[in-house]
Amino acid sequence: MKLATLVILFIAAAVIAGLAVIALAQPASGPKLDTLIRQSEEAAKKQQAAPAALSSTDSKEPAKETTPVKTAIISRAGYDITPLSKETIDELAKKLSPEDAKVILNKGTEPAFCGNLLDNKTDGTYACKLCGLPLFSSNDKFNSGTGWPSFFAPYAADHIKYHKDSAYGMVRVEILCNRCDAHLGHVFDDGPKDKTGLRYCLNSASMDFYAKDAKLPLAPIATKTAYFAGGCFWGIEHRYQETQGVVNAVSGYMGGNVAKPTYKQVCTDLTGHAEVVKIEYNPAQTTYRQLLERFFKLHDPTQLNRQGPDIGNQYRSAIFAADQTQADEAKAFIAEQASNPRFKGRPIVTLVESAATEGAAMFWVAEDYHQDYNERTGHQCYLPE
Ligand SMILES: [Zn+2]
Repeated sequence: MKLATLVILFIAAAVIAGLAVIALAQPASGPKLDTLIRQSEEAAKKQQAAPAALSSTDSKEPAKETTPVKTAIISRAGYDITPLSKETIDELAKKLSPEDAKVILNKGTEPAFCGNLLDNKTDGTYACKLCGLPLFSSNDKFNSGTGWPSFFAPYAADHIKYHKDSAYGMVRVEILCNRCDAHLGHVFDDGPKDKTGLRYCLNSASMDFYAKDAKLPLAPIATKTAYFAGGCFWGIEHRYQETQGVVNAVSGYMGGNVAKPTYKQVCTDLTGHAEVVKIEYNPAQTTYRQLLERFFKLHDPTQLNRQGPDIGNQYRSAIFAADQTQADEAKAFIAEQASNPRFKGRPIVTLVESAATEGAAMFWVAEDYHQDYNERTGHQCYLPE
């Protein structure tokens, strides 16, 4: 090779490396990024504080002879995201190529414009190369021009862990797999403004791509659905989200006569919708009966078409049964509660309605600003509990 060619190659490599540093060396401190780090740290604290189920129920047994078994942590998308043990991660890491291991285990960065997933435009899912957890979807991929695969949102918020990274004299926000701690890349707040405003900058080496109809390495758990209307959905959603066995709680509208209702329409009390919380639960961790018991503690089932200061048909007390078994169980539960001293002299007015799966009466997800309202704003709405 001629000397001139070598010089040109050297200059080209230096320019590419320089571009890479510029692309990554952006300040981390923005309100959106700070929020991601704070939420990630709070979630980790909650995980550590999760109740541990003891393998032995005999309280006479010496404590040292019982083995604590952590309750599985299920993501809002229904995946088991219980942190993997070091032994399991070491075992999984054996299958990695040295190049991938350098990125995933040692927080390396692959050269720009070199990853195999940069220009992938096929519909499908990007999963963690180490543990198989779905991390990103083709629906959220965009061309950022940086040379690394870029997404404006993760597959599910709780599949990603955020960590402040001060390496190389820069402050950045590192993103990791929330199940196995695999290094994925970084997130910046210069993403598409009409979406989340975030740019998740990924290493292709950290992920495997699965086309739309391909079988993913991990499957979500089989959940069941329940629907409860007990006044303002903000508080009910928040409490159920914190309830053992509840995978996800979503605020919405149900049981009305207008399709795709808005909050403004529902507030008129004319559409027939109730403010409803849709619950996905893990039947291995909680029963429908336990969710019913919780529902009666979270609201006052003797108030007709109101809860405290919230008045109107949209605040009615109602259980929307997903099937006949739920309807029978809900009716039996309400009948049984008539003799509960808490409701003495006050008849229970909770309705049992059928959960429609199509048409105007079906469940319509409420506007984004209603979701996780208490968690995001710190606001507490009226609850008798
Ligand atoms: Zn992983």
